[in-house]
Amino acid sequence: MHQLPSGGLVIDVPGIRELRVVEIRGSIGPVFEDIGFLAMQCQFADCNHVIEPGCAVLQAVEENVLGGRRLANYKKLRRENVLATATLAEKRARDREFGKMVKEAKRLKQTKDTT
Ligand SMILES: [Zn+2]
Repeated sequence: MHQLPSGGLVIDVPGIRELRVVEIRGSIGPVFEDIGFLAMQCQFADCNHVIEPGCAVLQAVEENVLGGRRLANYKKLRRENVLATATLAEKRARDREFGKMVKEAKRLKQTKDTT
């Protein structure tokens, strides 16, 4: 792991192709507190800050109060979290179903062996 002068970190981990974020919804808010504060002033509570009228976040970008790149990073992180978290939830559901199937197969085999 190498620390860059800009404050970033470069991590070389042989064998790992990519790292993903999962279930970090609670961590995004504190990191992007400025956007969260602006979002509270959006016209719609479920604003995605894309094209919605009365969006305080988009207005802040237009007025150069908030950087467009920062907003893009925020949206990208939220999108990645949603996708990865959904994928993890699907994997867990598949694992649960597989576990049930194995349990049922064992039960059927045991019933067959005793008859
Ligand atoms: Zn908004």
